[in-house]
Amino acid sequence: MGWFKRLKDGIITSTKDKKEAPDGLWYKCKNCKQASTMKEVKDNFYKCPHCNYHIRIGSHDYFDLLFDGKYEELFTDLIATDFLNFTDLKPYDKRLEAAREKTSLDDAISVAHGKINKLPIIIAAMDFSFIGGSMGSVVGEKISLAIDFALENRTPLMVISKSGGARMMESAFSLMQMAKTSAKLSKLSKSGVPYFSFLTDPTTGGVTASFAMLGDINFAEPEALIGFAGPRVIKETIKRDLPEGFQRSEFLLEHGFLDFIVDRKDLKNKVGDMLSFF
Ligand SMILES: [Zn+2]
Repeated sequence: MGWFKRLKDGIITSTKDKKEAPDGLWYKCKNCKQASTMKEVKDNFYKCPHCNYHIRIGSHDYFDLLFDGKYEELFTDLIATDFLNFTDLKPYDKRLEAAREKTSLDDAISVAHGKINKLPIIIAAMDFSFIGGSMGSVVGEKISLAIDFALENRTPLMVISKSGGARMMESAFSLMQMAKTSAKLSKLSKSGVPYFSFLTDPTTGGVTASFAMLGDINFAEPEALIGFAGPRVIKETIKRDLPEGFQRSEFLLEHGFLDFIVDRKDLKNKVGDMLSFF
């Protein structure tokens, strides 16, 4: 969300972030329209204190919520380039530059390893604020590297999806990432190292068609928009017309596409339980 200034490179601790939180600012809920202070929102796991709406947060916010204090960010030296010289409303290289400037992120995913309830885990978390969380070559490559790390160290992997789909400015190179990550994940699955896929609002397009639904456990935040299949496929699967909210976590859970839904306040302990179980 960019509420906190991110310390680039190296070890980041949540205590450093806390000092920089602008406590005096107000947040107006998108869902119930009521106002809360940023501090109230943050103390409530970035959920609206009035209606429990789960506000969209960034990769480093999830790292702060999940890891036991310290974590180490990995693969920070990868950045996208405009190798196709793509231009839509503005040139892709300018769009990348603006996104980096706005978010202080290198691309739409960050990878870090650390511990949850004293058990090691590697987490790859996407940022919707970076060109709609779109998957280009850097996202694909970082997920691949995270899978390699999980394999080499026999450390469980968690991917937090938040994406509008493929990055059109990278065209076929973006689509290739889906095949690449899917192939790597099947290797991980064969090795017996667990992969947890956590779907947050929104998860749509190619990301859902590749790594987001391939977890040993697929779980989601409440009310998240998840477009893993088009309306036609879902309609054929459930053999009736689509009710309202058919692309929300609750509907997908009801129809067996998700293992469970977790409130953000319980996320850390839930993942901790999964780690001790596996
Ligand atoms: Zn609200």
